[in-house]
Amino acid sequence: VLSENALVRLFQQRFSGKSAQLKLGIGDDAAVIHPRNADEYWVITTDMLLEDVDFRSGWLSPSELGHKSLAVNLSDVAAMGARPRFYTVSIAIPDRLSKNWVNRFYRGMNIIGDAHGAVLIGGDLSRSPAGLQITICVIGETSGKRVVLRSGGKAGHGVFVTGVLGRSAAGLELLFNGRIHGRTAREREALRAHKMPEPRCDVGLWLAKEGFASSMIDLSDGLSMDLHRLCRASGTGARLQMKSIPVFQAPWISDPPGSALKGGEDFELLFTVPPKRIGPLLRRYPAGFPSLSAIGYLTGNEGITVAQEDGGEKPLLETGFDHFQRA
Ligand SMILES: [Mg+2]
Repeated sequence: VLSENALVRLFQQRFSGKSAQLKLGIGDDAAVIHPRNADEYWVITTDMLLEDVDFRSGWLSPSELGHKSLAVNLSDVAAMGARPRFYTVSIAIPDRLSKNWVNRFYRGMNIIGDAHGAVLIGGDLSRSPAGLQITICVIGETSGKRVVLRSGGKAGHGVFVTGVLGRSAAGLELLFNGRIHGRTAREREALRAHKMPEPRCDVGLWLAKEGFASSMIDLSDGLSMDLHRLCRASGTGARLQMKSIPVFQAPWISDPPGSALKGGEDFELLFTVPPKRIGPLLRRYPAGFPSLSAIGYLTGNEGITVAQEDGGEKPLLETGFDHFQRA
């Protein structure tokens, strides 16, 4: 069976292109290039969303889908500590969708693009014989040459996460149970997190500018999967504390801690901070930003463990969303 991580590693080995302008190629949230003589770097990322693999049309309005499609790409730019600037959209549309549907899709995308300063500059349109397919490419700009990679973490650095975890998975659980519209505030919150995630662009840019984050990744496939990716890139392990992880709680969730550790699509930021910078980070973290949790620290050993509330310790397995494992 294919695995997404193994394929990316294969491509990294085979196609590590060399160019004086290329600062970082395959394997992070985005590639980093240095345009000749520029004071900044540009980061480039692309993501594809396929109907019935990444989303179901019946669960999302056209404008929600437009929002989400761009949001997942903006989140990768945020994870580099960059500011989104431009995007292209290529879409293959099945015959059943109307011009009005397409209009509303682009409008939803445009609203979140505007909110984050990203401008649509082109793309492609085609007809799809099967489902809807959406491919977006976003170009972002760093603040000076400050870019945050997955690979900068070191043993002893604190591990931090924004927001709450498992909220999008809780929304997905509602959708699987046929609840497309929420009845309570909690249900609506979870559904909104799943349908219209808010990428943490301001936070990522601020962390990079202020020099707090030594490494960073966005949580697209779940804390477990994405922390393993960050640790592998940094050459570290990690030790987390279950009681410090901000678990989204709601009555219908079958396993809240499990959803927080393995649920995908929260699009929060996971980052590490050198010990000396933790105090200043906590003092200066802006009040308007999403909540911030210190959930553990990086270790010199391989492997990730989670200290349980009963005093025990469990290994954190690398499970989460993988396109090829689910197929
Ligand atoms: Mg990412």
